[in-house]
Amino acid sequence: MDEENVTDKEELLPKRGAMSVVWKYFGCKKSDVDQTTIICKCCRAKVVATGGNTSNLLHHLRHKHVLEYEECMKLRSASSSTSADDNENDYRNLKWYFKREA
Ligand SMILES: [Zn+2]
Repeated sequence: MDEENVTDKEELLPKRGAMSVVWKYFGCKKSDVDQTTIICKCCRAKVVATGGNTSNLLHHLRHKHVLEYEECMKLRSASSSTSADDNENDYRNLKWYFKREA
């Protein structure tokens, strides 16, 4: 009876295998074991990020959380000298790696 909005307060875990700094602002609910639903840490909105694609995440930050977006952009340019948004490629490489392993 005291369980009102428990899911909404649920802790967010970092996305597995996420390389891009933009994931710093997003996470998945603990109960979401497959990590299919991406939640914004700032406003807890659901954001679609198919296959680890970060463009929707960046879009969300840019439109809803300008300060975080600017911080993210700074982090991005500071953290990687390799062409910035390589999260999707990393994800593919990971899949390829596991396939090869099997
Ligand atoms: Zn948000």
